[in-house]
Amino acid sequence: MLRGTDSAPVIAGVETAVYTVPTDAPEADGTLSWDETTLVLVTVHGGGETGLGWSYASGAAKTVIDGTLSPVVTGRDALSIQAIAEDMSRALRNVGRPGIGATALSAVDIALWDIRARLLGVALTDLLGRARDRVPVYGSGGFTSYDDDQTARQLAGWAEHDQIPRVKIKIGESWGRHEERDLHRVALARKVIGPAAALYVDANGGYQAGQAIRVGHRLAEHGVSWFEEPVSSQDLAGLAAVRRQVTPDVAAGEYSWSLADSAHLISAGAVDCLQLDVTRCGGITEFLRAAALAAAHNLDVSAHCAPALHAHVGAAIRNLRHVEYFHDHQRIESMLFDGTLRPDHGDLVPDVARSGLGFQLRGQDAEKFRVA
Ligand SMILES: [Mg+2]
Repeated sequence: MLRGTDSAPVIAGVETAVYTVPTDAPEADGTLSWDETTLVLVTVHGGGETGLGWSYASGAAKTVIDGTLSPVVTGRDALSIQAIAEDMSRALRNVGRPGIGATALSAVDIALWDIRARLLGVALTDLLGRARDRVPVYGSGGFTSYDDDQTARQLAGWAEHDQIPRVKIKIGESWGRHEERDLHRVALARKVIGPAAALYVDANGGYQAGQAIRVGHRLAEHGVSWFEEPVSSQDLAGLAAVRRQVTPDVAAGEYSWSLADSAHLISAGAVDCLQLDVTRCGGITEFLRAAALAAAHNLDVSAHCAPALHAHVGAAIRNLRHVEYFHDHQRIESMLFDGTLRPDHGDLVPDVARSGLGFQLRGQDAEKFRVA
């Protein structure tokens, strides 16, 4: 705790590590397939405390952090996050803020918020200001690479075992070339979760606008209420056109690398709910600003992936709809860190008795997956 001390805590060092974890089965969505996932971890030290942050990112983010961001952060007052965040953003000018630059910046920013909360001896959500005690999640997986049995097992696990009343599956298989299988899997999902649970789909930009509108009408017949990235997130006019013509809410934003990207999605009328990813958008600093921007336009936000990181910031957002409980990431987070949360009746409940984010790296378990 800082009270009573007379000198400002200084960030003494920034460490980085890269972990690559194999998936438990081949995973694919509409436009990509993968069998491993990489997490870039940042550890900051200062004032006798440690802060953790991470991004699901290319290992190249480590180079950006070590070479470009660490020199900006080291030696700074650990409580001056807004100033450090601005300086990190400026330092990325020639590296490029979108993509790898934003993931690197986000991981460092999260670690800085974690250490600030730990230095002040409060939970991160209480540092930000709690808007709610419980954060609704939706179960997310239903990969296009799964067969019907795998899909049914996973969805039943969330709906029945974890009592999560919302699930999402991937559609748009092979860039929209398997529309009938997409719709078959939507019907299967509805059958497994029953009529009352919310059913969401994510096409990961696999369709073009006309096809997405046709598919959107058929999704409505199965009571689908969320149609994520029906077309590429870069196609703002396409997203807006789909949104105007289908019943499910259209969502996008997982590739918002900055506040400006979120502003573009909103001003194009492209989304009913703005997605934000704290590991990509610029960390907690930028997540808060983007959520405020959405609120000004009467929009909810939904947190994309990385459920362990989103529980605390999500609890501090008044216009939060839910956090994505992504199968791949919740599995990795519970493997690598102590202090992660399991859903309780469909909600994550941040442990406000622990300071900061409340995570501890499981050193030996993590070492097996360390690649850099
Ligand atoms: Mg998505």
